[in-house]
Amino acid sequence: MKKIALLGATGSIGIQTLDVIRLHPEEFSLETMAFGRNVEKALPLIKEFNPALIVVQDEQTKSQLEREIDQPVLAGAEGLIEASVQDRVDVVVNAVMGSIGLPATLKAIEAKKTIAIANKETLVTAGHLVMEAARRHQVELLPVDSEHSAIYQSLNGEKKEDIHKLIITASGGSFRDKTRKELVGVTVEDALNHPNWSMGAKITIDSASMMNKGLEVIEAHWLFDIPYDQIHVILHRESVIHSMVEYVDRSVIAQLGTPDMKVPIQYALTYPDRLDLPMTKQLDLEEIATLHFEKMDFERFPCLRMAYEAGRAGGSMTTVLNAANEEAVQLFLEGKISFLEIEQKIEKALETHERIHNPDLLTILSIDEETRQRVRFQLN
Ligand code: NDP
Ligand code: MG
Repeated sequence: MKKIALLGATGSIGIQTLDVIRLHPEEFSLETMAFGRNVEKALPLIKEFNPALIVVQDEQTKSQLEREIDQPVLAGAEGLIEASVQDRVDVVVNAVMGSIGLPATLKAIEAKKTIAIANKETLVTAGHLVMEAARRHQVELLPVDSEHSAIYQSLNGEKKEDIHKLIITASGGSFRDKTRKELVGVTVEDALNHPNWSMGAKITIDSASMMNKGLEVIEAHWLFDIPYDQIHVILHRESVIHSMVEYVDRSVIAQLGTPDMKVPIQYALTYPDRLDLPMTKQLDLEEIATLHFEKMDFERFPCLRMAYEAGRAGGSMTTVLNAANEEAVQLFLEGKISFLEIEQKIEKALETHERIHNPDLLTILSIDEETRQRVRFQLN
């Protein structure tokens, strides 16, 4: 029986993680859970899974929830840590949105919990700290992101020195067929309409801007310890091949399947074993018939270019990339800036930042906060 702490339980990944737990009650139990503010969505889940501790984003939500349930409720970043390090927990599924997930991930690693990581912003903002802690405490970081799960599966039993390159596939997001000119004036609703995957709002916008793929390149760099020159991105609109690894002998190993996040979520929970996933549609290649691949255009997708540049520059640059992106996407979702202003704000934040080599946690947190303030309130 694996005992799970689920951070981000009311989100897209969180709900699908609960679907997996529900399918295999003899294998998994929900011990603690954290969410933000969506009490209405959380209440039936708390009643159903009866976790021993619940964590919410703020004191107001805590008071609201305490009126409804008997379990202890904690609020804020300290609560996220507490939910992750409890003795009763074996595996932390980190599915919160944003770099808010970083301190809890580090503390969970110190407490020697296995980490199933969906929260890519944590690795983008401070991959060096997370991977160093994981090595030091000999903790396994199991990817939930579908591309990274595909790479992880394609690496099974292989030697790292035999890897020639990682090939990450990108569906292209909701604007893949638009020119840059046509991006002027696109709305939040247009951007939220992803062709292949149903996900949270922030990652859906990231997919439309191609920043999601940029974040994934950085995530892959840290998870698999592979230089940026050996990480390649290719447009593959069907989302059937979830990613691939090319080896030195030119052999390419890929993982395929229908686009359903329950597959990588469950694999992270069962690794190295597999369990049945009866409701997920089987891949029918005869029905699909044709797969398409296109070269990525870095001028069409400047966010992908900036992510590679920030990743190669290293140090605090990816912290700035991530924080500027999180804040700019939030401003876009609030209707305060246009879609194209997202990339402009990020570019500006990167240009004006003086890189710090090997930043520690306090430095990361302060750069994260300062970047958000600059992006939100900059008058240029
Ligand atoms: P959602 O926006 O759907 O969910 C985010 C979750 O985090 C919600 O439960 C939200 O709570 C909670 N949350 C937000 N802020 C806080 C906080 N301060 N304290 C506690 N909980 C908080 O996001 P997704 O599920 O789409 O994505 C989650 C992560 O997984 C992201 O890093 C994303 O990049 C990654 N990912 C997602 C995929 C997907 O298919 N969705 C695929 C691959 C990766 P509430 O809503 O109650 O406020
Ligand atoms: Mg992905």
